[in-house]
Amino acid sequence: MSVLTSVSGFPRIGQNRELKKIIEGYWKGANDIDAVRATAKELRARHWKLQQAAGIDLIPSNDFSYYDQMLDTAILLNVIPQRYQRLSLDEEGTLFAMARGYQGEAGDVTALPMKKWFTTNYHYLVPEFDAATEVRLNSTKAFDEFAEAKELGILTKPVFIGPYTFLKLARNSEAQELELDKGLVSAVADVYAQVLAKFIELGAEWVQLDEPYLVLDKEPGDVELFKSLYAKILPARKGAVKVLLNTYFGHIADVYETVNLLGFDGVGLDLNEGRDENLDAVDRYGVNSATTLFAGVVNGRNIWRNNYAVSLGLVDALKEKTPNVAVSTASSLLHVPFSTEGETGIAAEQLKHFAFAVEKLGELREIADLAGKDDAELKSDPALAANQTLFDGTRVAADPAVAARVAGLTDEDFVRQPARAERQKLQREALGLPLLPTTTIGSFPQTREIRAERAKLRKGEITKAEYDAFIKAQIDACIRHQEEIGLDVLVHGEFERNDMVEYFGQNLNGFLFTKNAWVQSYGTRCVKPPIVWGDVSRAKPITVEWSAYAQSKTDHVMKGMLTGPVTILNWSWPREDITHEQQTQQLALAIRDEVLDLESAGIRVIQIDEAALREKLPLRKSDWHVKYLDWAVPAFRLVHSAVKPTTQIHTHMCYSEFNDIIRDIDAMDADVISFEASRGDLVVLDAIHEAHFETEAGPGVYDIHSPRIPSEQEIEERIGEILAKMDVEKVWINPDCGLKTRGDAETWPSLEHMVAAARAVRARLAK
Ligand code: GLN
Ligand code: ZN
Repeated sequence: MSVLTSVSGFPRIGQNRELKKIIEGYWKGANDIDAVRATAKELRARHWKLQQAAGIDLIPSNDFSYYDQMLDTAILLNVIPQRYQRLSLDEEGTLFAMARGYQGEAGDVTALPMKKWFTTNYHYLVPEFDAATEVRLNSTKAFDEFAEAKELGILTKPVFIGPYTFLKLARNSEAQELELDKGLVSAVADVYAQVLAKFIELGAEWVQLDEPYLVLDKEPGDVELFKSLYAKILPARKGAVKVLLNTYFGHIADVYETVNLLGFDGVGLDLNEGRDENLDAVDRYGVNSATTLFAGVVNGRNIWRNNYAVSLGLVDALKEKTPNVAVSTASSLLHVPFSTEGETGIAAEQLKHFAFAVEKLGELREIADLAGKDDAELKSDPALAANQTLFDGTRVAADPAVAARVAGLTDEDFVRQPARAERQKLQREALGLPLLPTTTIGSFPQTREIRAERAKLRKGEITKAEYDAFIKAQIDACIRHQEEIGLDVLVHGEFERNDMVEYFGQNLNGFLFTKNAWVQSYGTRCVKPPIVWGDVSRAKPITVEWSAYAQSKTDHVMKGMLTGPVTILNWSWPREDITHEQQTQQLALAIRDEVLDLESAGIRVIQIDEAALREKLPLRKSDWHVKYLDWAVPAFRLVHSAVKPTTQIHTHMCYSEFNDIIRDIDAMDADVISFEASRGDLVVLDAIHEAHFETEAGPGVYDIHSPRIPSEQEIEERIGEILAKMDVEKVWINPDCGLKTRGDAETWPSLEHMVAAARAVRARLAK
């Protein structure tokens, strides 16, 4: 019997980031919107055909997006705040204004806030309702794309963010959680019902509604909300279209019974994350006879080959409860790179261990085929046998030196002396900084010229010495410019780094690198995580020479710039044969060596970025400490515990949502933290206030994810808001993230405004 295969979503940026290039070209005025539309159409067709050729039964459509699928959903539901409507731009213009802000002839508006999508490094735009929001069906995108595929002879399964997840993630214009009245809930449900009706008309067989928010802890009213939405939506199926309720990134054990009773045609369960709880729930409550379970066995978030024997075991476990089992990706493949094809820099012996999106299609097909075979057939199946050899334990040997170092750690290695309050006094004297010190997060714009120079080095067109001289000139200019505009703590600009994680990985033992394994992070921004292949240790000093050079060029304090162990792991592809905790500890020891070398080289302020620490916080509260913080926070302390009291340790986080873990952030025992609160809400300031947060903090005074230039006035107001909640002695003034992705044209004026604002506030305070 053949088993149905389903893909939850496919990467849309293109094998060679075609979508990124054409959209950025459009923003710069290098090509028009028609060129964007044409490329988008080609990519969609190519991706559908690839899946068809791989033998996938349920191929997604509407997983394509110019920027973000949450933003598309907001537009679908006409949740477009007034300030964007008033610009009266065309369809794409409005979309990009919501995504990136707009500053031009039509007006001046900031972008919608952006947040990380569950535990991924993908950012979604936070939909915002305002008083004038009138929910109605407002977009034909999903229908058009379905028709486009149908014309190619491919009957797709349209996918949407479901109404429950949408409403739970949406905010009102005060950036607070939505008040959900009956009218609003039913208006939203009504749009989804209309969508189903339309797809019946268009001849769709399945529609997939993604409800990842179901894997989070439930608040009072959540289950009721979910039920009332679907009680209105499901009747619209009229027996003519099937609805797949898709969940991922965790388990839904706490609502499985409700979900099961509602009688969805399909229910997608993540059998990687939350596997045991999902299986227990199925075991306990059984499976509705109308429902097909979609076993999410192919991991959408790693790049390692699937272990077929494990996946078949999971399918078998479900089959004990129902004959209706399909195999699926555990989540959208949006979060993995396109294909291993062309990765010639990795030896074939190693590459065979990896499966990116395209290879995962093949895995899905093979698993489905194997799931249809009996035990005797499986015993002699060559595909299964070949797969098993990948997991026979011979992939990589352990490094005994790393093991010995880890075994030698004692409790003292995790505690810095003296206590922070004491250190802060000493540092203030030693560094001689003004009140409200100004600084940046580390990187300055990586211009085309810099990237071109790196490409030349790679191709052997210039020597290492020529490249280094070029980078030094960039550093010199950047330092001079920072001195000119009057920043207090300077940075060297990170021009030598392609990426804050890959750069470190390249100088550590145990990592592998790809040429083209890009993954979308937000909008057109992509990242290329390195792969942790074996045990990690530092091969040689990494940043010391650059930082020492930069410090030699200025009398100001020069901040050394490192990436922390949790972030290196979170933004790499981690191993699956040892725990994340073990891998993080190895990384912490490597970065600890670097911290101490920087200190010896005369660097007095060292920033250890933990940009991604918050991102991997488990979705369920009960898992926060035991499964994560209990080792992630000590790992950070291990990195810096051995420095002198006068050496100031900074950290940076690309996040502002740590109200609930504010004490854990404090327990990292950094001296200063900068974070990203400028696009988000200000609630975190209350949390800092209430928790008597000890770490000095710079809660970003402007948003670097938008090309907008903030005015001095605007920044002064923002500083005012911060000072209302924080002790002025503990406040730092900085942008909310690194400036790498911005251009010089907006960066320098923004920073000038920032410094001017800080000075104005200082002057006012001095009176
Ligand atoms: N130091 C890094 C930079 O400035 C931090 C980047 C980040 O937070 N993602 O680019
Ligand atoms: Zn950041």
